Amino acid sequence: MKKVAFYTLGCKLNFSETSTIARGFEEKGYAKVPFSDTPDIFIINTCSVTENADKKCKKIVKEAQKINPDGYVAIIGCYAQLKPKEISEIKGVDAVLGAAEKFRLLELLDGFVKTPEAKVLASEVKEAKAFNNAYSINDRTRTFLKVQDGCNYHCAFCTIPLARGKSRSDTIDNIIQSAKEIANTDVKEVVLTGVNIGDFGIVDGKREERFVDLVKSIDQVEGIDRIRISSIEPNLLTNEIIDYTSHSNRFVPHFHIPLQSGSNKVLRVMRRRYLRELYEDRVNKIKQLMPDCCIGVDVIVGFPGESHDDFLETYNFLNELPISYLHVFSYSERANTTAAEMGDVVPLKERQERSKMLRILSEKKRRQFYESQLGTTRTVLFENDIEDDMMHGFTENYVRVSAKYDPLLINELKEVTLRSINENGTVDVQEPEMVLETH
Ligand code: SF4
Repeated sequence: MKKVAFYTLGCKLNFSETSTIARGFEEKGYAKVPFSDTPDIFIINTCSVTENADKKCKKIVKEAQKINPDGYVAIIGCYAQLKPKEISEIKGVDAVLGAAEKFRLLELLDGFVKTPEAKVLASEVKEAKAFNNAYSINDRTRTFLKVQDGCNYHCAFCTIPLARGKSRSDTIDNIIQSAKEIANTDVKEVVLTGVNIGDFGIVDGKREERFVDLVKSIDQVEGIDRIRISSIEPNLLTNEIIDYTSHSNRFVPHFHIPLQSGSNKVLRVMRRRYLRELYEDRVNKIKQLMPDCCIGVDVIVGFPGESHDDFLETYNFLNELPISYLHVFSYSERANTTAAEMGDVVPLKERQERSKMLRILSEKKRRQFYESQLGTTRTVLFENDIEDDMMHGFTENYVRVSAKYDPLLINELKEVTLRSINENGTVDVQEPEMVLETH
């Protein structure tokens, strides 16, 4: 039996796709093993957003060669689509597959026989038209269910449309089918995942369905305890979606909404499709209907032309908004994007300083949010992650909690009372068993 190992860089979408490709290998009789277990085949799923994607890719290939010098190394994913030729020249790489080819890996690389030159099977990204459904079953706790791929927006800084192609989606019927399969496993939480998930519903270039209808349909699937939306553009987060999720027992009170900048001037140059007023309105609407909702924000600092005053506008905007945490990205130039051609570059040091300020703000916001939740009773999904005899999990509204390790609690949903914030910045809870006894 041939052994295959996978390494995934990047986002939830990549994880869902690796997991699905891996299941395809297992169905064909391959044994999926850890990277260190001398595999015959190494599949590396790359990301174009990752800082130093080229160096990371080279490092993993080198590691694979060290583990098994005769192993077959195939590179897939966003970076493979963007730079197939460069990757094929990395010593030890046997094949590079683009976005349109990666799901046909088994068929295209039949037998995984090494050739003197690396095989490059990467057509132009416009060929990536098919939607390949995917979901991850990496740990038993949660699954990333891919419902949409690609993006028709052209944000000035983003390479994703170049790496993943146009917006396309699965049908609601197919997704419900996958959700039912997942409901039959002991996975407790489904995270709906896509590149631009609010744009869900385009099939063969035509809008056929709407994201809100997917939300309503998947909410009816018995056997799934929790559903989370991974990230949604503010202009696509409609009142209908917010209203519906606020009444749902399965959709959790947690949204992750990219802002990128709190300055309208910068938002326009970035070619984002909203202004700060709309963002503020979305946050207020959510908080009005779900006061305990957790709201995460993506923000980019140091975009070309972002003056110190523009940055302060972002800082103050976020400081005033009832949001719960930030994901801060320092802008970095990506080849073939319009932003990379723009002048008025922000010096690296300045980018780092702005990033640091927002990271500190993020910690303050998280703490404020956690403090607002102390004393409340929430449901925690405990994970298989042990550290110093403690285990962790997230409440429905994304508060990270710690409890004394108990193997019986792994992948269990338990009601707990949030007691205090500990020195690690997570929340200690009242012993779940004790709480259970009192209910
Ligand atoms: S919405 Fe903008 S940032 Fe997001 S994937 Fe599309 S182009 Fe990239």
